[in-house]
Amino acid sequence: MTESLTARVALVTGASRGIGRAIALALARAGADVAVNYLEREAQAQATAAQIRALGRKAEAFQADVSRTVEVAGLVEQVEHRFGRIDILVNNAGIALRRGLDELTEDDFDRTLLVNLKSAFLCTQAVFPGMRARAWGRIINISSGAARGAGVVGAHYNASKAGMEGLTRGYATRLARDGVTVNAVAPSLIETDMTGPLRAENAARIPVGRMGTGDEVAMAVVMVAGNGYMTGQTVQVNGGLHFN
Ligand code: NAD
Repeated sequence: MTESLTARVALVTGASRGIGRAIALALARAGADVAVNYLEREAQAQATAAQIRALGRKAEAFQADVSRTVEVAGLVEQVEHRFGRIDILVNNAGIALRRGLDELTEDDFDRTLLVNLKSAFLCTQAVFPGMRARAWGRIINISSGAARGAGVVGAHYNASKAGMEGLTRGYATRLARDGVTVNAVAPSLIETDMTGPLRAENAARIPVGRMGTGDEVAMAVVMVAGNGYMTGQTVQVNGGLHFN
């Protein structure tokens, strides 16, 4: 039986669309109040928050670039002010700049590491003290099959997601005694705006014969959030594309 998430407060980064939006809605269906972070799509973020409120949960949209220290500090402060605390952090915000080796620039590399990896570090550093003080917390990092496999995006993306899984294990070990679990959920080939142009090329090589949905990734996130004995793990949601 999974633990109820009723009255827990979740912060989901990059939740105006795609996988983040599906996670925000699924956590709300499981009973959590949700802070919906977004970078630039305010109308979509507000729509996600309104959908959550229609489910009977509390929700608000918060603009912040989670790759920037000052903005993360402001985001966490605002969410804690409006919701009282943060119990569940989902580091979902990410970018996938598709680049061949010859066109990959230092700027692409730095931007990818900042948004995909440093953001998770910044958000985790900002929320774990409160979780530790309350002896309950769930940190869930949205990694990718690219953390272990090659994938199609590029070496910079592989590095960012592999780093995220290292971060997951590093925090998991150090927070295990404090009631705080830290896990990764690693999707591959989910139908979103990020993978839009790749749909036809991809579906044929996935063992289950289709791409996945944001809801299927969100189900794994809710499962992890409801389990206090699972920590430092990566749950793959990939239609059988690769195995641990
Ligand atoms: P998406 O582009 O729809 O969602 C990414 C979200 O992150 C967007 O809303 C974007 O605005 C937000 N974001 C980007 N930079 C940000 C920043 N600096 N601050 C705040 N928000 C920011 O793509 P998605 O497919 O829903 O991806 C969600 C996560 O899942 C990403 O981390 C991605 O790497 C990961 N992922 C996706 C797939 C897939 O097949 N779609 C596979 C593996 C991993």
